[in-house]
Amino acid sequence: KKSINVLDVRVDCVNFYKAKEKCIEFLATSSPHIVFTPNVEMIMLSQKDEKFKKVLNSSDLNIPDGIGVVWASKYFGEKLFERVTGFDMMMSLMPELEKKGCRVFLLGAKPGIAEKAKENLLKQFKNLEICGVYHGYFSEEENDTVVEIINSSKADVLFVAMGMKKQEEWIYKNKKKLKCKLIMGVGGSLDVLSG
Ligand code: UDP
Repeated sequence: KKSINVLDVRVDCVNFYKAKEKCIEFLATSSPHIVFTPNVEMIMLSQKDEKFKKVLNSSDLNIPDGIGVVWASKYFGEKLFERVTGFDMMMSLMPELEKKGCRVFLLGAKPGIAEKAKENLLKQFKNLEICGVYHGYFSEEENDTVVEIINSSKADVLFVAMGMKKQEEWIYKNKKKLKCKLIMGVGGSLDVLSG
């Protein structure tokens, strides 16, 4: 897959359709695949934070989120035609996940929000298997318990909505322990879905 380098962050040259296709491919594998949606803010943050840059570059797919990244990519000589937000990608995957019977775990946001997001998702996707939810304000000591909750739910897909940087770093730190096939950082998506 082609990619470009935007200030030392790898951004994959995928439009919406291609990005979705990749995510669906990941579902058919046995090892975890990580999807991030870097925007200009994240790329700027990573300039002062080598660790975060390394985290961003460690993903299996970096979908350009934000018109800024699309614009920058033109500047860097390779055209990315559209912006793809984590929220849009997550929502476009839902009917596929429902159809395939994939198990979905929602992690992040304030206590109660993920439950509400689940409720709203089920109104739209009646047969979607949401196998678990957990808020995004747990302590370091609780971390292994949360990982265990996710693994014992047998989730195929883990959406992590703990805001940029925090969610990517959490995914990076825990990916070896997680047994999901697709793990995606989705920012404030659960707040949107809970409304
Ligand atoms: N959040 C979380 N744990 C934290 C900090 C934030 O789960 O320790 C959640 C917060 O409740 C909100 C989301 O992460 O739902 C951040 O949303 P925002 O719109 O700021 O996302 P960003 O644009 O930073 O990716």
